[in-house]
Amino acid sequence: MNNLFNYTLNNLETHLVENGFKTFNARQVFDWIYKKGGTNFDQMSNLSKPLRAYLNKSFLIEPLTVVSHQISSDVTEKFLFRLSDGQVIETVLMKHNYGNSICVTSQIGCNMGCSFCASGLYKKTRDLTRGEMVQQIVTVKRLIKKRISHVVVMGIGEPFENYDHTMAFIDIINSPYGLEIGARHITVSTSGIVPRIYDFAKDPKQVNLAISLHAPNNALRTKIMTINKVYPIEKLLKAVHYYIKETNRRVTFEYILLAGVNDDLKYADELSNLLRGINCYVNLIRYNPVDEFNYKGTPNDQAKAFHDRLMKRGITATLRHEKGGDIDAACGQLRSKDIKGNG
Ligand code: SAH
Ligand code: SF4
Repeated sequence: MNNLFNYTLNNLETHLVENGFKTFNARQVFDWIYKKGGTNFDQMSNLSKPLRAYLNKSFLIEPLTVVSHQISSDVTEKFLFRLSDGQVIETVLMKHNYGNSICVTSQIGCNMGCSFCASGLYKKTRDLTRGEMVQQIVTVKRLIKKRISHVVVMGIGEPFENYDHTMAFIDIINSPYGLEIGARHITVSTSGIVPRIYDFAKDPKQVNLAISLHAPNNALRTKIMTINKVYPIEKLLKAVHYYIKETNRRVTFEYILLAGVNDDLKYADELSNLLRGINCYVNLIRYNPVDEFNYKGTPNDQAKAFHDRLMKRGITATLRHEKGGDIDAACGQLRSKDIKGNG
């Protein structure tokens, strides 16, 4: 049996035609599952009996198994899901005034080894399939019975290490016959896998790109992000320039504020010099504590001063309040483990 959520509309059209059905049947199936929230092929009364029988014997449309569901005081929700091979992942739902946003996981564990991130504490055991990424959204949508308007690929894992599945996932959720999540409402965050930034620049979809920069120079970035040894800042920014030239889109740089590490105002000055002239903005992220690490978040006054210094020097920056910290659902607190610390 195949997981139906692994199929882009194109894939499904080809598959159904090869098996004696019509191209438009694929659109009917997409419409049924994604738009109408159908959970069972037998309910699809507008399809012929032979097609329903074929779908039943060929495809699974199961949601993920919910192991736990926590709701934080700020109404962020965290789901622990079990996959068909027994492994677990986390997915986060954030309710904003502009809509419901889901933070999707792309790998089980992460090998990038950033020194501050809980997701990297567990080495990658495998990539998620496109279907498992789609299922995170479908399962949450079925549970909350509300439309999902925004998606960020910022959960566990490095999506650009799982590039093909991530791109097919975007195709599926963006399809007008599927979940219809606008490309401009989808953001992929990477720690900076340079060759994939070039590939991403060539993709015709207007999806947002966020880059985890976290330091304005190589010495400091290498200390906290080992990927910088392979793809140092010059190479990263060259790829970013290319991406902006090709897509004419603005890039987001994420910068976690770590007390006493990268939050001195001299780093704000260095960062503004580095980014001057690039069509970008900086998303300053408050550090969410992780038990296993000694890092501390920058105090509010200093974070605000860092933000203001960037703005004064002509770099647009935002500093938001994190959501979900009390249930470990904030950036960098997600992990592929059943019970925290029980490992
Ligand atoms: N692997 C990708 C996407 C997932 S991480 C990447 O690194 O970009 C999403 C964001 O959360 C990244 O910017 C990451 O650096 C940040 N992050 C990691 N640990 C964090 C923590 N403890 N507190 C706040 N942000 C964190
Ligand atoms: Fe992986 Fe991103 Fe965490 Fe780094 S910050 S360990 S790349 S999930």
